Amino acid sequence: MSGRSSRPGFRTCCPRCGAPFPIVVRGEWLETSPRCAECGVAVRDDSPQLAPSDWEIAYDLSELPLIVRTAITADMIEVRVPFRWDDALVLVVPPSAEDYMDQLIDDVTADDPAADAPGERP
Ligand SMILES: [Zn+2]
Repeated sequence: MSGRSSRPGFRTCCPRCGAPFPIVVRGEWLETSPRCAECGVAVRDDSPQLAPSDWEIAYDLSELPLIVRTAITADMIEVRVPFRWDDALVLVVPPSAEDYMDQLIDDVTADDPAADAPGERP
C-alpha cells in the first residue's frame, strides 16, 4: 500500500497527439496497449518523455488540428527531442529545444493547405 504509487503506470495523454487517453478496463484486465481514439497510434513506452522540471517551455497546441500535432511529435521523436504532453494539449519541451520548436511549428502551420484560407481554391 505504499512504495510505487506516486507514478501512474499508464500515460494519461497520447504521446503522439496529446489527446486524453482513457484507461480501458475490461473485466478484471487493464488494457495494456490501447490505441489512441484520436490518431490511432498504439501507445508504447519507448518514446522520449521529458521529466518535469523548472526549466521547460510550454506550447499550447490546442488550436492545431490533429494532423499537425502528430506531425510535430513525429518529427520530434525522429530527432529525439524529449517532450511531454500536459493537460489540454500543451506540449512541453526543454529550453534547449525552443528554437527548434519555433521553427518546426512555423513549418507545419505554414504548409497546412487546410488552414484558414477561405475563398482561395485554385
Ligand atoms: Zn493520439
